[in-house]
Amino acid sequence: MREADPGGHVGVSVESASAWVRAWADAIATNKQALTKLDSAIGDGDHGTNMDRGMKAAVDKLAGSAAADVGTVFKTVGMALVSKVGGAGGPLYGSLFMQMGSAAGGESELSPEGFATAFEAGVNGVVARGKAARGDKTMLDALLPAAEALKEAVGQGTSWPDALRRAEEAAREGMEATIPLVARKGRASYLGERSAGHQDPGATSSHLLVECATETLAKGSS
Ligand code: ADP
Ligand code: MG
Repeated sequence: MREADPGGHVGVSVESASAWVRAWADAIATNKQALTKLDSAIGDGDHGTNMDRGMKAAVDKLAGSAAADVGTVFKTVGMALVSKVGGAGGPLYGSLFMQMGSAAGGESELSPEGFATAFEAGVNGVVARGKAARGDKTMLDALLPAAEALKEAVGQGTSWPDALRRAEEAAREGMEATIPLVARKGRASYLGERSAGHQDPGATSSHLLVECATETLAKGSS
């Protein structure tokens, strides 16, 4: 069993879930050019601008709604991404957030186990929509190891901040491991062997998502 946290609660509240979304939107905005540069090398150079537009819309929608539960926060983000972003990336992240929202349900706060389960459901939503597997050089190369590491760490009773850090490390390793891969899904797959030697833009934005989780979801816990 995880020890009781003397400094407060351990879990993901509506506030921390919203802070996570805002932090990711900020990180996307900060890294807009870098993401676009990565997508220029193996895609059509719009990943940074696509995600920035989508996440700005998501943050606006969230600010204008009084979400009472974590599931609604995630569903609001998912709907904004699906409606505002064309191309592959937006709808795929839309699926991530929609499925995460469904799994989170009407809870006003998720336990670490609940969040790990919801995140895994979100990642499985990306698999279901994009039909990609690990090693295809996509966002899933960061997301699948992160979801797995988080579930494992939480299952072992690792402290919540440490569990999130392990997920971030797994996402980083997965992101870096996309560099030598030949893309088998998405636009980059049109390049065949020439896609090797470049880091996948979607895996990079996914790593940012998990990195932002380490900074926002463990607030109030030790
Ligand atoms: P588009 O490729 O339509 O221009 P983006 O540039 O926004 O869309 O996003 C590209 C990213 O989407 C890729 O770097 C990759 O990580 C991800 N991606 C593309 N196709 C798939 C897929 N079928 N499954 C999972 N991720 C995918
Ligand atoms: Mg693109």
